[in-house]
Amino acid sequence: METSDVRARYVIEPPPVPCLPVIGTDAVFPIRRVYCVGRNFAAHAIEMGHDPEKEPPFFFQKNPDNVFVGGDFPYPPQSNDVHFEIEMVVALGQGGRDIPLARALDHVFGYAVGLDMTRRDLQGKAKDMGRPWEVGKAFERSAPCGPVKPASAVGHPSDGAIWLDVNGERRQTGDLNQMIWKVPEIITYLSGLFTLAPGDLIFSGTPSGVGPVAKGDIMKGHVDGVGDIEFRVA
Ligand code: MN
Repeated sequence: METSDVRARYVIEPPPVPCLPVIGTDAVFPIRRVYCVGRNFAAHAIEMGHDPEKEPPFFFQKNPDNVFVGGDFPYPPQSNDVHFEIEMVVALGQGGRDIPLARALDHVFGYAVGLDMTRRDLQGKAKDMGRPWEVGKAFERSAPCGPVKPASAVGHPSDGAIWLDVNGERRQTGDLNQMIWKVPEIITYLSGLFTLAPGDLIFSGTPSGVGPVAKGDIMKGHVDGVGDIEFRVA
């Protein structure tokens, strides 16, 4: 069946398209998929018990409707060890397959500051049992995100500070130049596995210092040039 113009045939109201605000315009960025890169900073790979020696990048996904802007992060059920991971988020304006490295950045619409909130205890159990990571990674409001700053305004940041404060104390700090896989490499590699499309977000990995949150914590994150994010754990 054609999927265009079938609104009258939906048996339920179609779900809303999750969107991010875009700096400098009232228009919004619609989210299609959310990819995340694992262990992309050597110091974080080490703190998670892995050898940071350059192995191929690996990916997992969150759901588009896990992304939220503004308001609280609700402490999720079934976990006693929910961690923060500050990350730069890449927002794609063009897609494709097998995107050449030299053209990769042409596919980027802009960048945002986000967090890959993680139920570390459930992720750890999944790892131990050889099970998928969704329960640890793709839960409700697990992807707090700031507005998208267009590349036309910020360029394509390849260095600059990335940090996270919890209750005014610096907990994570790193530099974008410490990424094992750079943004163009991530796009090229990912486009060999999946057909990328406009609206895709890529969480590009977190520096070291990840740790648990508690209800009431005030989270403040920053990426040089890209922006800031602030929310509360509720
Ligand atoms: Mn992450």
